Amino acid sequence: MTDAAPTPDLAEWRHVYSGKVRDLYVPADTADGAEPERMLVVASDRVSAFDHVLEPGIPGKGVLLTTLSLWWFDQLAGGDGGRRIPNHLTATSVLGDGPDGIANTADDLRSLVPAQFTGRAMVVKSLDMQPIECVVRGYLTGSGWAEYQQTRTVCGIPLPDGLTDGDRLPEPIYTPAYKAPMGEHDENISFERSVELVGAERAAELRDLSLEIYARAAALAESKGLILADTKFEFGLDANGVMTLADEVLTSDSSRYWDAAAWESGTTAKERMASFDKQIVRDWLAANWAPPREGEPPALPAEIVERTADRYRELIERLTGA
Ligand code: ATP
Ligand code: MG
Repeated sequence: MTDAAPTPDLAEWRHVYSGKVRDLYVPADTADGAEPERMLVVASDRVSAFDHVLEPGIPGKGVLLTTLSLWWFDQLAGGDGGRRIPNHLTATSVLGDGPDGIANTADDLRSLVPAQFTGRAMVVKSLDMQPIECVVRGYLTGSGWAEYQQTRTVCGIPLPDGLTDGDRLPEPIYTPAYKAPMGEHDENISFERSVELVGAERAAELRDLSLEIYARAAALAESKGLILADTKFEFGLDANGVMTLADEVLTSDSSRYWDAAAWESGTTAKERMASFDKQIVRDWLAANWAPPREGEPPALPAEIVERTADRYRELIERLTGA
């Protein structure tokens, strides 16, 4: 594409859906009920915890998360030296020529994204999304730690005795969740249940891809002094039936990142899990909004908002060197 490519305005896209964090648009000329080929995914500055959108947003968050997603899509497309994982970007890279030979420059995105969404939008293939959140855990914490204390298992997978919050698992485990329809809580499920939902072949493909991507990403993070404790992927089938990595990837919303040095030297769970992610928000909300958490959550204090934004920025600097 040339520098002269015009920036489209919003009239070229029609809003169809808003999730907790992202807003989805389809080309304005998409007929009602027709499946669009492309979609515009716009990351807002909204932040959610315990399935509630909180006030205020985190200024700049949408740009930071999009930057990080695009960088990871690039790494997983071969930038890290591994094989190319198919992803949903139509312009597969903003960092240079993609390994598939498509020139994917910032100009490409400029020519596709309305000016008001610059930096916070991706143009993606509209996929047939699989109803599974593909969670991989390399460390024990969060809902995994809660379950482990009751049953010594995580999502039904038996684990050794004597683990504590923040411990490394003997090996990464795949713990899928059913992606509940809008407004409902996602539900942890067994691998067998995922087979019932999508069939044996696809369930295995989702598991194997998730574990492969986690291993590659965790190794890359480790080389930057970071621990990728856990993460969540979403996949969909493209028009050719290829299982394709979608949504956001390996962001501070979908993942837990810790500082490796702090984890090594820390003695308390809090010291070990010095995080670069939404945990700051979750912890504050857990301490200031008692269960059953009905009605509107309390507003986040300015200090929590700033600290979260700072840690998101620091994560990008550490990972990408930018
Ligand atoms: P909810 O929709 O329940 O609020 P959410 O909070 O995860 O869930 P967002 O992440 O804000 O929602 O919205 C992004 C939505 O876009 C998700 O439902 C995700 O599955 C969907 N999505 C992401 N990539 C694609 C794609 N390539 N094709 C179709 N849908 C996609
Ligand atoms: Mg989501």
